[in-house]
Amino acid sequence: MTNFVWYYFVYLPHHKVFIMQDAEKYRILKEIWGYTSFRLHQSEIIDGVLDGKDSLVIMPTGGGKSLCFQLPALLMDGTAVVISPLIALMNDQVNALQLSGVQAVAYHSNIPQSELNKIEIQLLSGKVKLLYVSPERANSYEFAQLLSRLKINLFTIDEAHCVSVWGNDFRPDYIALHKLRDAYAHIPFIALTATADAATQADISQQLHLSQPRHFVSSFERNNIHVEARPAEQRFRQVKDFVLRQQDKSGIIYCLSRKETERLSGKLKDTGMNCDFYHAGMDAESRQRVQKAFQDDEIQFICATIAFGMGIDKANIRWIIHYSMPKNLEGYYQEIGRSGRDGQSAEALLFYSWADYALLKQFIDDSSAEETFKTVQYAKLERMWEFASAYECRTNIVLSYFGEYRTSPCGYCDNCRQPPKHKDGKTIAQKALSAMIRCNEEVPMNLLIDILRGSHREEIIRNNYDKLKTFGVGRDISFINWKVYITQLINQGIIRIDYTDGFKLKTTPLSKDVLFNDKVVTLVDLALPKFEVEQPRKQSKKAVFEENLLGKLKEWRIQLAREKGVPAFVIFTDKVLENITEKHPLTSADLLSVEGIGNIKLEQYGDDILAIVRGYVLDQDNLLKVKGSTYLETFRLYNMGWAPEAIAKERSIQVTTVFSHLAYLYSKGEKIDLLRYVTEDEIRDIEIAWKKTGKQTQLSSISDLLNPPIDYYKIRLALAILMQNDLSGG
Ligand code: ADP
Ligand code: ZN
Repeated sequence: MTNFVWYYFVYLPHHKVFIMQDAEKYRILKEIWGYTSFRLHQSEIIDGVLDGKDSLVIMPTGGGKSLCFQLPALLMDGTAVVISPLIALMNDQVNALQLSGVQAVAYHSNIPQSELNKIEIQLLSGKVKLLYVSPERANSYEFAQLLSRLKINLFTIDEAHCVSVWGNDFRPDYIALHKLRDAYAHIPFIALTATADAATQADISQQLHLSQPRHFVSSFERNNIHVEARPAEQRFRQVKDFVLRQQDKSGIIYCLSRKETERLSGKLKDTGMNCDFYHAGMDAESRQRVQKAFQDDEIQFICATIAFGMGIDKANIRWIIHYSMPKNLEGYYQEIGRSGRDGQSAEALLFYSWADYALLKQFIDDSSAEETFKTVQYAKLERMWEFASAYECRTNIVLSYFGEYRTSPCGYCDNCRQPPKHKDGKTIAQKALSAMIRCNEEVPMNLLIDILRGSHREEIIRNNYDKLKTFGVGRDISFINWKVYITQLINQGIIRIDYTDGFKLKTTPLSKDVLFNDKVVTLVDLALPKFEVEQPRKQSKKAVFEENLLGKLKEWRIQLAREKGVPAFVIFTDKVLENITEKHPLTSADLLSVEGIGNIKLEQYGDDILAIVRGYVLDQDNLLKVKGSTYLETFRLYNMGWAPEAIAKERSIQVTTVFSHLAYLYSKGEKIDLLRYVTEDEIRDIEIAWKKTGKQTQLSSISDLLNPPIDYYKIRLALAILMQNDLSGG
């Protein structure tokens, strides 16, 4: 493993520190993570930490919080402590760091004492850069003792909302963490979270005793997640259709009940889909098995209750379905936030119905909570419903919920992409209202619709509803469309549902205006997606090439993940594998220029990856002209020990072409022994001539100056060597 040089900045004048610090930041970013630029706020946050200041960071899931404390930890002398509440997340981060060549350890109660002893020795050696610890351990006497023997440079509080009772995941163990802050007054603290409204943010600072923290709040907007909501009509069919379109991409279907997860998973399995279910009622072993299979991409999707997802750090979840409506927008947003963590696009489909609403409301009614708490829950449910049934930009509804207000539409939610068509709904509204009134406001929605549509079912006949003047006046409108219209009328305040009286529909003050005055009513037709099996798109050769190569890389990754006992994405995220397929690098230099490939990973996996890509490119050579495949074949034969002449003969090309391939490969950093084909003396003569031309690269200008003459191909080889020396300053 590479040894890093750790720089000390403290003793340097400030401006110099800054320049060096900046260069070092970028160097480490590429070396360890393989990235070339920082995301919004990351760079400033890192600077703040390096300056010894406290910070409070609010950044959405997938925004790139980990880098904000991991990178400065690598730039400072000593060890950074990271307090994290979820052991699964902790292990994933530690594994990912270790694979990138960073010394990181986890310290929590699931680790046997013998192992902890070893970790302590490692810590005392001073080489560990990041020490992850669970909050209950962090508060222990033993840990305080251990800390006092280490050189600590930073404390990180991850998932910091857990410290606040206002947050949605309060953990008593977090409360005592301020003691660390008090004990280490001179060490910077950084607190990070993805979910905290304004009240919670202030509370975090206060509870942790942060000292004048620099405050970084990123927008909650996740513009890679395409949100869509549909009425829960023909729901199973819609789900099946949606999942089929996702091909083999990972996803989660959230259900309200345990039973539902099992039932739905069974039904989808029957159609040949690769899924399973998960809920808190299963034994620990089964839960772990399902979760692991999902993380390793062995199961495509999981039908789950919201218990699933907390401990999951899977970056390539591409879609989320809410089979039923969640109870509030916080939960909804957190659940859809589990998709697209790698920043690539994801789809979130929400189904909603009055039945869900009624059920959720019933839960609150039946709960033994205090009235004030219930009031808040009702209000949250109301907002959830408004969001689900909205015809305006959904992103803006969520943003305003979290305190971000703007009027310009997002452009990527369903309502923005396919704006609903509004039509005059006055007659429809009048029909519904007059039928309601003629039934003395004594009927719930489904019964009213049956009356409007002229059904002769028993309940209608028994109550003489078929004798009403309005019986059957809405035959021309389908049952589903009636439901959608009435829902809209309720949302517009023209009709009301009486939850205290069997969900019967009642008039409101606005009803009169619709019936007797000229109140304008607009409605939107239900646009159910068409259930057509999409013809598979004819893929271009390039797309087929990339898809197959990606498949090969994924196979390799899963194999490696099994050997190392870590989740696949910890080795490389999908995004990185996709970057590789797109560039199909053939040399180490090409591979290092791929976003997400750092020096350590190159060292460890470069040969494997290049072998896969090269092998594949060669296989495809006849099918598809791939740039570079011709010198690659030369390279393959060269590595088998073939002489240039033999390679030329085998390939029916000029031997000079073979030499130019070898010169090119050499210049790309491949191990080619060019000195076998051109002598040191010749190189010296060529160098003199080359310098005389003012280092031109035109072979003829150099050749003109050579006496006795030297073959062109040798000039080319010599130039490759000379230019390489030039570059490396030799
Ligand atoms: P969070 O903890 O905020 O949910 P992560 O730290 O897990 O987010 O980062 C999410 C993804 O974004 C990871 O795959 C990470 O490697 C990637 N990422 C973070 N910073 C950058 C960057 N500067 N450039 C490219 N990718 C980044
Ligand atoms: Zn929108």
